[in-house]
Amino acid sequence: MSNELNRTLGTEDILWQLADLYQGLEDPRIDTDLDQCRSEAKAIQAKFSGNLPSLTASSLLNLVSRLENLSLVRGRLSTFAFLNFTTQTQDAKAGAFLQKIREEGSAIAKLTVFFELEWNTLDEGIANQLMNDSSLKHYHHYLASVRRYAPHLLSHPEESLLIEIAPVGRGAWTLLFEKIMGHTKFGDKQRTEEEVLADLYHENRAIRQEAARDLTLGLNSQLHILTHITNTLLADKMIDDRLRHYPGWLSSMNLYNEIHDDTVAVLVQTVTSRYDIPARYYRLKKQLLGLDQLFDYDRYAPLPNLPAQQVSWAECRQMVIAAFADFSGEMAEIADLFFTKNWIHAPILEGKRGGAFAHPCTPDVHPYVMVNYTGNIRDVSTVAHELGHGIHQHLAADRGYFNSDTPLVLAETASVFAELILFQHQLSQLTTQSERTAFIAQKLESIFATVFRQIAMNRFEDLSHNARREEGELASERLNELWQQTQQAMFGDTVTLTDDYAIWWSYIPHFLGTPGYVYSYAFGELLVLALYNLYLQDKDSFVPKYLELLKAGGSDSPHNLLQPFGVDLNDPAFWSGGLNVIDGMLRQIE
Ligand SMILES: [Zn+2]
Repeated sequence: MSNELNRTLGTEDILWQLADLYQGLEDPRIDTDLDQCRSEAKAIQAKFSGNLPSLTASSLLNLVSRLENLSLVRGRLSTFAFLNFTTQTQDAKAGAFLQKIREEGSAIAKLTVFFELEWNTLDEGIANQLMNDSSLKHYHHYLASVRRYAPHLLSHPEESLLIEIAPVGRGAWTLLFEKIMGHTKFGDKQRTEEEVLADLYHENRAIRQEAARDLTLGLNSQLHILTHITNTLLADKMIDDRLRHYPGWLSSMNLYNEIHDDTVAVLVQTVTSRYDIPARYYRLKKQLLGLDQLFDYDRYAPLPNLPAQQVSWAECRQMVIAAFADFSGEMAEIADLFFTKNWIHAPILEGKRGGAFAHPCTPDVHPYVMVNYTGNIRDVSTVAHELGHGIHQHLAADRGYFNSDTPLVLAETASVFAELILFQHQLSQLTTQSERTAFIAQKLESIFATVFRQIAMNRFEDLSHNARREEGELASERLNELWQQTQQAMFGDTVTLTDDYAIWWSYIPHFLGTPGYVYSYAFGELLVLALYNLYLQDKDSFVPKYLELLKAGGSDSPHNLLQPFGVDLNDPAFWSGGLNVIDGMLRQIE
């Protein structure tokens, strides 16, 4: 079945060339590299462990560059083992090799873990003096970012105790949540969560309505436990923030993202001030679907007239390269390398893992891209997305291993930007008005899912964390109220949220596993739209700056990396620029 599809699409031979890493599992270089890592890690440990306070700048430079080189060789081994496994997950040899490299890797990592611990607890005066030495300029951001948690660390025995009890903390509660969701049967048909959620996208309204009711019934049957887990984790965060002296419930996430609290506040404020955009869109969607009233279970109803076509691999390649070339010749050339040099694995194979990714590999080799290409228009977009990552990784490689890793909120910039460029290119090829409308509407819905929906969820998180801190344990009804209030705000009077919808806060895993994280999606998407807005204003000056941003990788904070664009992340006008792009797309179809 899949063989036939691969043949039709021309992806049969689109396989990556892992020999750029090692010749195969039997390559003698694998053992040589492992031996070298082990002895180097031991040498580093013997020479530097316990000596950080007395290091000179030049010996710190020596230590950090040796650690970087060690990580690079380890990275090459683990990338090879991982990529080799990824396309043949049922192969016992590939699995055992991956496991072996992981075990060897963590044994090696353990020998050098002293560095992060000692660097973090080093006296601030000494650390600053070292970091600011001109010889360490190249590693300044790396050293500073490793130390950014230093003011929030507890004493050594306290930290050890917390690590000791961590397995029965947040992780155990989120695991309980996953187990409950996995075991719960939804509605009369006893369906799984996945099955019910998938039906929310069904074209038949009765089926969507039933899916929504079933989801509610299932969640309701577990609500007392879900409420207990939520309360426990809200309290866990409250206690942790107090012990570590974080000023607000979101501060630790912002520190992780290397973003100021004020910047996030401006982002949230600017997005919520434009809730007229989703409201206007759903008013239009109601018309397009020919409905009198739109309910929560109608939000994901598919739009009529979407262009249906099967895109061969050759057409996909041509489409993506042409779209990138419209933007920048350099970008198209780099993307072309992935196709001509066999850096992509595209066919659908039994035993290959699902989804898609771009792997940066190591700066001395090149990135790899994996997709499961089925030939629909969504897949072409995925190829552009992953190539966006790949181009970013390729350009950032010159910065070295420690500096090539992008800060989290910028991690999706190149990929989402690449998708947007492809979208504009594809849109320009569509001729009928109804196709264009459906195509834009589909893109708008995906933008809403990352911008408005995530910010509305952030508002729910904000109210529930603060309510837990002020009011104590929260009843399910109180959480329902906060959920309904924050979600209704986004839709205005265009979508009627049924009473059933009020408990839908209870199935969202992010609230439990990574509190505060959801705004990062909105940040990334809106940043790209805002940058795209700058591109539209002055294409010639934008492109080189954009490529410089990608080349900079993770060598600085998001704030500093964006400086050349003259943007101020704390200025609502910058974020409004991104929102105006959405507004413009909506106006095209209104
Ligand atoms: Zn991505």
